[in-house]
Amino acid sequence: MTTQTNLRIDGRRLWDSLMDMARFGATAKGGVRRLTLTEIDRQGRDHFRAQCEAAGLTVRVDEIGNMFARRQGREPHRLPVLFGSHLDSQPSGGKFDGALGVIGGLEVMRSLNDLGIVTEAPLELVNWTDEEGSRFGHSLMGSGVWAGVYTLDKVFSLSDTEGTTVKAALEGIGYAGPEDAAAFPADAYFELHIEQGPILENNEKKIGIVTGAQAQVWYDAIAIGRDSHAGTTPPSARRDALLCAARIIDLVDRTMRARGEDGRGTVGQLQVLPNSRNVIPGEVRFSVEFRHPEEAEVDRIAAAFPGEAAAIAAACGVKLELVELFRIARQPFDPGCVDLVRQAAAKLGLSAREIVSGAGHDAVYVARHVPTAMIFTPCKDGLSHNEEESILPAEAEAGCQVLFEAVLARANRVL
Ligand SMILES: [Zn+2]
Repeated sequence: MTTQTNLRIDGRRLWDSLMDMARFGATAKGGVRRLTLTEIDRQGRDHFRAQCEAAGLTVRVDEIGNMFARRQGREPHRLPVLFGSHLDSQPSGGKFDGALGVIGGLEVMRSLNDLGIVTEAPLELVNWTDEEGSRFGHSLMGSGVWAGVYTLDKVFSLSDTEGTTVKAALEGIGYAGPEDAAAFPADAYFELHIEQGPILENNEKKIGIVTGAQAQVWYDAIAIGRDSHAGTTPPSARRDALLCAARIIDLVDRTMRARGEDGRGTVGQLQVLPNSRNVIPGEVRFSVEFRHPEEAEVDRIAAAFPGEAAAIAAACGVKLELVELFRIARQPFDPGCVDLVRQAAAKLGLSAREIVSGAGHDAVYVARHVPTAMIFTPCKDGLSHNEEESILPAEAEAGCQVLFEAVLARANRVL
């Protein structure tokens, strides 16, 4: 049985506000280029801040530029319920990646105002700095510093291709705030985001109840063979580092496909030396990463892959240096918060399914300190990090309504 609520967010206002935000960095192809800590980002942030203040929220900014817009609760000493996402984009990004969670959060605040609702706990809407990592090469920067995963000193000194550091960029746009960039006690964190994959669309579901983020293992690999003449070196004398890398790339793909639709395995970077058409490559440097919703599968891969890759290298007469960079454990979300998302979707009569996030999100780091859950909405053809990224107004509204219900239930729960 489903019950309709009469406490509705304003889907039209949400959509208009999403389109307003998309003007900052709008591209000719209908996407967005709003790189973190640029002049365009400043304009978007200033606009967002003004909208928050117009809604009666108090905005504060921390040292890494994370923005927190607070709405007081009836009990100011209760821990705040946080929700939000990020306003920065990829160089050729879409209108909804990140923006949906921030602007959706703003719509929650505005709807509470319209409905005259004062929650028990205070609420804070968050815009995390530099989720995408495309300018300074470091994703989840703001939430990572906040969560203590990275030090402020480390990220301050990162620079873009023009040599501008994070610190200088923050100061340049006036968003090096006075607040400590450190986790503070909070009651919960909810993040609404587009799925960026095809699962909801393929299963004709409107809401993804995100139960956690998948486990990962990343490697740097160097295959060392021997440079030699392409015309004079017979097969028996070749130690071809690129052939070795190619066979390992195939191994990565086979390892992934052996795990069905849940498997992920990617070689995304390849550097061939000396990269000359008539020299057998003597050295190839490449990246390898695997991901899986089940941590045990990633552990199994991490146990087997280095040996299998080494055997391939040996058969090619090539030496393989394989370094495991890191293994990220599966990050489960908080069962109580996840359940609020599930209950909200059910109450609203929205089709929903559980889903494990394939991508990294600010929520994954926040979850280390604060009970967290995410809400996914479908996006057309599962396409994201693309100017053609698109969602329907009704999908944005449904996701925002679920966010509204989950936040309200959490903020008013009896302690
Ligand atoms: Zn995002």
